[in-house]
Amino acid sequence: MKKTMTFPKFDAELNTDCCNPYSNAELTLTLRLGFRQINPAGGVNTGTYHDADGQPRKIIRWNPAAWSSWKARFVSSAQSFWTGKFWLINDSFSFPYKHQGVIYFPNVWCRLKLVGNEATTPGNHRTIDVVRLDPSVNWFGSHDTLYDSKDMDSIHKETTSTGKKVMQRAHVHEVGHLLGLDHVDVGKPHCPASGDTSADVCYGVSDHDMQSVMGFGMQLRSEHAYPWRESLRHFAREEMFSKVLSALSSASHARSLLGTPITSLSSVWSAKMQRHYPRTEAEMKAGTPASTIRPQRRGI
Ligand SMILES: [Zn+2]
Repeated sequence: MKKTMTFPKFDAELNTDCCNPYSNAELTLTLRLGFRQINPAGGVNTGTYHDADGQPRKIIRWNPAAWSSWKARFVSSAQSFWTGKFWLINDSFSFPYKHQGVIYFPNVWCRLKLVGNEATTPGNHRTIDVVRLDPSVNWFGSHDTLYDSKDMDSIHKETTSTGKKVMQRAHVHEVGHLLGLDHVDVGKPHCPASGDTSADVCYGVSDHDMQSVMGFGMQLRSEHAYPWRESLRHFAREEMFSKVLSALSSASHARSLLGTPITSLSSVWSAKMQRHYPRTEAEMKAGTPASTIRPQRRGI
């Protein structure tokens, strides 16, 4: 089964056709970005543009080669940072399949597909303006709809209490926002969600938090699987409702439904940052944790 759902921030496709005793289901989020060149006004080659801090910064005109190479690098680099990093553990008896008489329940591997379009292409999820910085400019305050040509450079953003530099490539942080993630400390007392969530303290106060990709650093954490997990809940819930509907239509389906725990509503789908193999029905019922070690004798 390949099923697609459309969400405001991205599209999601759940693929269970790839499932076998060793391969999990795959959930791919597709994010279509529409990039728009910001060039110096009046058709000249150099000028200034105000950044997120309200400062005029020197910019230069895009040319076709620089533009297409920047877009391609942005998409491939941010996609490879985010894709394939999380596995959601099936705790709701969802998406069962049978192989050689054994019933399995897949965990779900989280993938990302980024598409870099022109802003004029229909169907983009977001439009992003992009300035090309003059080589002399070392700092430009980007924000979620205004990027700069140096957003892929690794920049020293903060220093830990032990003097370690915290470096970040801004584009991967920005893609986190596009997927719906907030700064690492949003919701903590020093960064209430109702306040200015772009304040420095929201990027993490402790050494650990500031190194998060949704802080000043580059570290992925299991909580960053949130966009995939929330999408997956919709697929799992839809599957549960269709089971209930078919149970209502036949007595034999109703009996089979009674033997299946309907736990989608309370499922956790906890995120792991390591592959965990599909679970058998016996393992699920016994509460055996999903295994990272390739299970033996699965007949494939
Ligand atoms: Zn941010």
